[in-house]
Amino acid sequence: MDLFIPSRVFFEPGALEYPLGRQLYDLMESKGIPIRITPSHNRVLGIPGDTPQIAYREAKRTLVVGVKKTLKLNTCRPSADYEFALGTSCPGGCQYCYLATTLGRKPYIRIYVNVDEILAAVEAYIEKHHPDITHFEAASTSDPLAVEHLTGSLQKTIAFFGRQEYGRLRVVSKFANVDDLLDLNHRGHTKFRFSINSAFAINTFEAKTPSLTERLGAAGKMAAAGYPLGFIIAPLFLYEDWQADYRQLLEDLAAWIQPHQPSSLSFELISHRFTARAKKIILERFPQTKLKMEEGSRKLKWGKYGYGKYVYPPDQLETLKNWFTQEINRLFPKAEIEYFT
Ligand code: SF4
Repeated sequence: MDLFIPSRVFFEPGALEYPLGRQLYDLMESKGIPIRITPSHNRVLGIPGDTPQIAYREAKRTLVVGVKKTLKLNTCRPSADYEFALGTSCPGGCQYCYLATTLGRKPYIRIYVNVDEILAAVEAYIEKHHPDITHFEAASTSDPLAVEHLTGSLQKTIAFFGRQEYGRLRVVSKFANVDDLLDLNHRGHTKFRFSINSAFAINTFEAKTPSLTERLGAAGKMAAAGYPLGFIIAPLFLYEDWQADYRQLLEDLAAWIQPHQPSSLSFELISHRFTARAKKIILERFPQTKLKMEEGSRKLKWGKYGYGKYVYPPDQLETLKNWFTQEINRLFPKAEIEYFT
């Protein structure tokens, strides 16, 4: 799959005071990509699109380069202690993407250039919790690997965590351009997970993302480079042939594991859920979507931020959990299932 090159780029003036900001400016200028200045990376005017579909499509072709000002970190359960952001959104076109709905009607791709300041904030959290080991998630608000060929920020971050005795990094991605990460001195401090799904889910809902074969190819390279490895199967969908499709996925994965033998292997399992706002936005963007979002067949669960999510009802969640636990234990007896949600 081709690496992402934006159709237009907006820079915050402050971003040009950082080496990465200037480097990106020069790169975009050399490629003849239209450049504009935006007073704030939070409010970007001038992305075309007078229908929801075009606004979404054009936003996903737009890069915004800014400075991360808030360096206070949020907690990130169940996958880590804290999360930090190297950017937001990604060029992928997954219909169910919660980022694409929480970031509003124009989920443009944002890159932060003050990576050293972000990592200094991370270091302060590590020191605060020392001698306990603190785990950080770097992909809750973006897929940083999708823009790594432009930023190099993940390389810098992985190398930083390689130097930390008491900090560990977790990254998740659907992208496959890992070659620049293979020779880093990561010391096993970065756990890399690949997000995968059944062939039906990938083909139906995950536009503009690498194929399963490409993701597994990247996972093989990361395993060979000694990274602790995991797979996130998300979102888990219940549909007519879900058991046959997910069994095929797990059996393909088991066949893939044989020659690669990662030093450790884990799974994270996340069932599909949606909010009322997400449903509205998804239906505007993808009027023909095959995503099933019928409130009547779900259970409303209130989250800590005061809005409700429609999750599968308890008996269906139990079925999903039991089935995946049994199949993963059968095919990957040494793997750990970190959580099911
Ligand atoms: Fe969203 Fe991840 Fe898909 Fe990008 S790859 S659109 S972040 S779900």
